[in-house]
Amino acid sequence: MAKPVVIWSPAYEVDIGPHVFPTAKYRMVRDRLLSEGVLDPADLVEAEPVTDEMLGLVHTPEYLEKVRENRFSAMERILLEVPFSIALADSSRICCGGTVQAARAAVRDGVAVHLGGGFHHAFPGHGEGFCVLNDVAVAAATLLEEGAVSRVLIVDLDVHHGNGTASIFADDRRVFTFSMHQERNYPHHKPPSDLDVGLDDGTGDAAYLAALRKHLVDIVERFRPEAALYLAGADPYREDQLGGLAVSAEGLRERDAFVLETLRNHGVGVAVTLAGGYAVRGADTVSIHVTTVTEAVRVFQGGSR
Ligand SMILES: [Zn+2]
Repeated sequence: MAKPVVIWSPAYEVDIGPHVFPTAKYRMVRDRLLSEGVLDPADLVEAEPVTDEMLGLVHTPEYLEKVRENRFSAMERILLEVPFSIALADSSRICCGGTVQAARAAVRDGVAVHLGGGFHHAFPGHGEGFCVLNDVAVAAATLLEEGAVSRVLIVDLDVHHGNGTASIFADDRRVFTFSMHQERNYPHHKPPSDLDVGLDDGTGDAAYLAALRKHLVDIVERFRPEAALYLAGADPYREDQLGGLAVSAEGLRERDAFVLETLRNHGVGVAVTLAGGYAVRGADTVSIHVTTVTEAVRVFQGGSR
């Protein structure tokens, strides 16, 4: 059966030393998808770096110059919370390109996947929280700039609030930002999304899925997006080191299925990005991401549960 376009890059596995952010997960997810037969090597498309023009739709020229030349102040480095390097900058640029490719394919094919991306804490003029460049915002802005679509929905289900994305599109009515996250978690200051659903600590599967069901269909029917970008963060997982929503792996699978089927049933092309995931056991993070991709392939092929 036909498969969705799946974008990946070896550049995402950046050496950042001992760190809670497991950059090896991108390679491990890819390897698992191939070894389990979810994907064939021919299904994978390598990400290409984004153009400066596309980056300039979201980020300021001053910030892009800092990224290019590795000129950050001590404060900016602290805010980033991940050691900056030219390799990380290259990885971030390629990642933006990958999300753009996935977004274009989603508009064309209905579903596409990026085995990376979701760096929603990057603002126009600074990076923070492991995020250098906001690939999701760059992809949304690129689709609009190209005239491919006139309304884009961002469904951000990472456990952390999508502060950078919310800020970038605060005054842009063409983009609806929906963030459902753990309220008492990073980032402390949460610039308003178009809809923020801040959940309590230890929310658990039933209340988590009920909140999602309550809001997503309504947003899709009111805003009528022509494309969607989905941040399928693995960090709402109950054994995540940086998340406290107590959602099970099965709950996350139901979440992914619901998001993807809702969008498909409304004829909205969706590009999936992986976003966060910091489980105590790295293999759990990989499994959750693999399940997300498996659900995307199933929905692409027209399956229902
Ligand atoms: Zn996160």
